[in-house]
Amino acid sequence: MIPRLYVTVDLAPGRQFAAEERTAHYLKNVMRREAGAPVILFNGRDGEFEAHLAEIAKKHVTIEVGALRRPQVGTPDVWLCFAPLKKDAVDFLVEKATELGVAAFQPVFTKHTATTRLNLERLSANAIEAAEQTERLTLPAIHEPLSLSDLIANWDPARRIILCAEAGPALPIGEALSALKSDVNKSNAWAIICGPEGGFARSELDLLSKLPFVTPVGLGPRILRADTAALAALAVFQSILGDGAERPPAPLTPIGQSPE
Ligand code: SAH
Repeated sequence: MIPRLYVTVDLAPGRQFAAEERTAHYLKNVMRREAGAPVILFNGRDGEFEAHLAEIAKKHVTIEVGALRRPQVGTPDVWLCFAPLKKDAVDFLVEKATELGVAAFQPVFTKHTATTRLNLERLSANAIEAAEQTERLTLPAIHEPLSLSDLIANWDPARRIILCAEAGPALPIGEALSALKSDVNKSNAWAIICGPEGGFARSELDLLSKLPFVTPVGLGPRILRADTAALAALAVFQSILGDGAERPPAPLTPIGQSPE
């Protein structure tokens, strides 16, 4: 297994740099790699590169960047606005939504949100790990939490909101998104919003549903848990309006072997 790592430095063939502490620790102490060992790197900007460990010293690990493996490509511009959940549920949500290609996380405090604290650093670490695993070339952004009213007051109306509405006369999500897809003035920027375990307050659903840039959708006859609802909505979004309709990429040539 060749480790695939997110780094913050600029990447270009021939460049050498000292790995950040997290990466150096992982390579040296967890993976027990030695000088010369291959790694794969991405930074969210420059694409994905082959690389190898040039030097392993007591205090640092030096990495040398090799050839470009894949050029940078973006991800569909879809945010997930979610009400903070308990630790395990929020960790699960961030990991899985990153795998499903979400562009940004926007925590939103609603009336019935039970959790008051959110550790953004931990969310970011979970997102990095999921992005490394899932061959993404980007990291999702993690925005500062906002109250629902502040979110709406500052919302860019060009970013259409898909509201997961557990009550009311919303169209099923597949139908609603297919209609949005065939709209000639289709938006390029999207967000999915899901309520907390306690659900949206009636007044919140009414307020959101009235906004011209909001499309309420239903996720079927069962009431899903907040994390399940967000992930189900994101999966359907990707297959209709996102990149889920694209063919999977051809397998890459393993490092150090020439293509056949
Ligand atoms: N306690 C609430 C349910 C909350 S479920 C109740 O009993 O009504 C948490 C969130 O998941 C909801 O606010 C909604 O955004 C989303 N959700 C769950 N099931 C859904 C469904 N069938 N359709 C649309 N959204 C759903």
